[in-house]
Amino acid sequence: MTPASDAVDPAPVLVLDHLTRRYGSLTAVDDVALRLPPGARHAVIGPNGAGKTTLLNLIAGTDRPDRGTIALNGADVTRASTAKRSRLGIARSFQQPSVIGELTVLDNIVLAGWAHHPKRRGAWRSPSRYRLHTESAGRHLETVGLAHLAHRPASELSHGQRRMLDLAAALAGDPRLLLLDEPAAGLTDGDIGRLLDILGALPESVAVVLVEHHVEVVAQVATSVTVLAAGRVLVTGPTGEALAHPEVRDAYQNTAPVSGEAPDLVTGSAPDPVTRSPEARG
Ligand code: ATP
Repeated sequence: MTPASDAVDPAPVLVLDHLTRRYGSLTAVDDVALRLPPGARHAVIGPNGAGKTTLLNLIAGTDRPDRGTIALNGADVTRASTAKRSRLGIARSFQQPSVIGELTVLDNIVLAGWAHHPKRRGAWRSPSRYRLHTESAGRHLETVGLAHLAHRPASELSHGQRRMLDLAAALAGDPRLLLLDEPAAGLTDGDIGRLLDILGALPESVAVVLVEHHVEVVAQVATSVTVLAAGRVLVTGPTGEALAHPEVRDAYQNTAPVSGEAPDLVTGSAPDPVTRSPEARG
C-alpha cells in the first residue's frame, strides 16, 4: 500500500521519522514514520494498547521519544517544549476537556486565545486587543455551535458541550495541526453528528490527527489512516484501503477489547464502515 501523500507533494506540516518510545521492556511506539501534508485529515487507529495515545503525546510534547524525530513545518521540534510547539501551531483537544467552570463560555475561549498570543502579557491591558479576541472567540463558538451559550457559565455545559468548548479553545490559537484525542468518546449520537459537522467545516489550513475508536467518525472525517498494532505501523494509506486491509481485521480480532464502548473494529464484527447505519452505532 502506498503512503498517504498528495500528487503535488506540498511541504509537509508534520514528519515523524523512526519515532520510538519505550517504557522499560515495552516499546509503546516502535519506529513510526509519518508524513502529513497541510490540511491532512489523518486518523490513527489500532487495538487497545497499540500506542495511539503515546504517539499523540509525543507529537504534542507531553512525552519524549527515545529515538527518532518530529518535524513541524520543517522545524525539528523533537526536543521542543509543549509551549513552543503550541506557539508553532500544534493544538490538542482532550478526552477530558479542560474547561474553567467559573468563567463564561466566551471567556474560556478569550483566555485560550490570549494564551497563544505572542504579546500575551500586555494583552490584558489593551481594550482593542480584548475586543479582537472577543470577536474571534465568538467566531470559534459559532464554529462549534455554542454561540447561543456564550454568556453562560461554562459549569452549566453538558459533557458534549464541554468537549465542543475544548475544541473551540484548541482552535483559538489558529493551529496548523490539531490533535484530537478520541473526540467522539462519551458523546451521544446527536453530539457525534454535530462533531462530524464541525470537523467537516474546519478550515483546510488546519491539519488534523485524530485518535478515534468510532469507525464511522474515522470513515467520515479521515482521508488517510495509520493503523498501529503493538506500537508499529501496520498500514498507512487512504482510509478505505487501510480499513479494508486484511491484516487490520486480524490485528483487532487478536486483541481483547478493554472497554465496552463498542468500537466495532475492536470486536472485529463491523460491516463496511462507510455503509454502517446509524442504528448500528454503539
Ligand atoms: P487505548 O486505545 O486503550 O487508549 P492506546 O493505543 O492509546 O490504547 P497507549 O495508551 O499509547 O495505547 O499505550 C501503549 C502501551 O504503552 C500500553 O501497553 C500501555 O500500558 C503502555 N504505556 C502507556 N503509557 C505508559 C507509561 N507512562 N508507563 C508505562 N507504560 C505505559
